[in-house]
Amino acid sequence: MFLSAMPVLALAVCFYAALCAASPFGTCHRCRGFGFRVKRGRRGRLTRGRHCRRCRGLGRRVRVGRHLYNAVSRLHREATTR
Ligand SMILES: [Zn+2]
Repeated sequence: MFLSAMPVLALAVCFYAALCAASPFGTCHRCRGFGFRVKRGRRGRLTRGRHCRRCRGLGRRVRVGRHLYNAVSRLHREATTR
């Protein structure tokens, strides 16, 4: 059962890696890419709320895969420069 799922998993990993390489940034889930919270003011109007702390107002965040890649490459670089 585990072996039969391997090709699918490998494909998914490849796809995700390609995605991370193509666009290292994804939209922030907290503010949905706005960079700030959207508040509903009086009369139902949408107003710009607080600055999003998760993405520091950029509306984007580094993907988990890319973050992992960055961490691994940094580790590799630090380990090999000596
Ligand atoms: Zn955000």
